[in-house]
Amino acid sequence: MGCETMNILHAAAQQGDTPDGLRKEFFSHVPDRLWNDWRWQMRNRVRTVEQLSQYLPLSHEQQEQLSFVTAKYPLSITPYYLCLMNPEDPDDPIRRQAVPAIEETALCGFGNEDPLAEAELSPVPGLVHRYPDRALIITSNICPVHCRHCNRKRQWRQGPWIQTDRALAPMLDYIKNTPHIRDVILSGGDPLTFATGRLERIISALRNIAHVEIIRIGTRYPVTLPQRITVELCAMLTKYGPIWVNTHFNHPRELTPEAAAACQRLLRAGMPVNNQCVLLRGVNDTLEVQEALCRGLLKINVRPYYLFHTDDVQGTEHLRTPVEAGIAIMAGLRGTVSGLGLPTYVVDLPGGGGKVPLQPDYLISGSDSEYIFRNHKGKICRYRNPSG
Ligand SMILES: *Cc1c(COP(=O)(O)O)cnc(C)c1O
Repeated sequence: MGCETMNILHAAAQQGDTPDGLRKEFFSHVPDRLWNDWRWQMRNRVRTVEQLSQYLPLSHEQQEQLSFVTAKYPLSITPYYLCLMNPEDPDDPIRRQAVPAIEETALCGFGNEDPLAEAELSPVPGLVHRYPDRALIITSNICPVHCRHCNRKRQWRQGPWIQTDRALAPMLDYIKNTPHIRDVILSGGDPLTFATGRLERIISALRNIAHVEIIRIGTRYPVTLPQRITVELCAMLTKYGPIWVNTHFNHPRELTPEAAAACQRLLRAGMPVNNQCVLLRGVNDTLEVQEALCRGLLKINVRPYYLFHTDDVQGTEHLRTPVEAGIAIMAGLRGTVSGLGLPTYVVDLPGGGGKVPLQPDYLISGSDSEYIFRNHKGKICRYRNPSG
């Protein structure tokens, strides 16, 4: 192992000071060989409230409520991700992202099933084409962990599916016949749920289309099941670059040595790893948490790319914050965190309007001769505007 990798793992071990109580208490009989096998983790996901109650203290009433919720929005948690939770804390930020909450159904009057109108923007089923140069493929609806804030929650109740070759063929044809598509995003569900061989067939088919310049993989495996990022997977992906990986860390406690090592394997195989964080109430809606997350990501060579305002998705109202919360966080990050660690805060507009960046107002006024700015400390500064 290289020195740099050691440093990164060491940094991750320091920041991801997660309570490992659950692993010791419930999984000490599982040998590391199995624990580190992503297929074992997938097979042993927590899928029912009854199973969950073995690990977390849940009252009888809570169990009944959660069963009601999971009938609409099923539950799935890998043992690895479960063990990042502090079982004593009902407001634990990892728990809030993965354990169902009664508000998912109680507040279902808010929001929309498909706020981004993905169904309308699909020229062929499964492919979303919103920007001229970019196309997004929904590869499956399967993820190791069902994030409670998922903006494709509507697809969970269909039961697990993965796109067949027959369903993928028209998507590939569409991309082939649309020469202005330069960037294809594999999304989901999680595209790394595919067996590596099957994923290779899709990626190599995309690589054979001359106008497809880059391929992106949107995956939360580095966070929820980092063991999936095997040497074998990376060796396959490295053949088809440029591939960019976008992942989804939301809290510094997710930056474990395992997660850092997974990102490191991707980076060494030539894939830049960028982070798409979602601003979530009670998870990461404070400056302190965002600062720790952004700094922590830089320490493992992952670039904060987007901070998403939570979409107006039915069943996620309890996790949403006002837009101002995100702007205030961005104001606090500017000037205190390396510019490399500053994500772009975006709202994804309903109806497929697209992503709009938001930031504090630094420009107070401007004229032909002078601009007036407010800097990150609130100081007003004048700037001479050269004549045009
Ligand atoms: C977010 C998104 C993209 C990619 O947007 P970038 O700003 O390039 O990251 C592409 N297509 C769809 C449908 C999207 O939602």
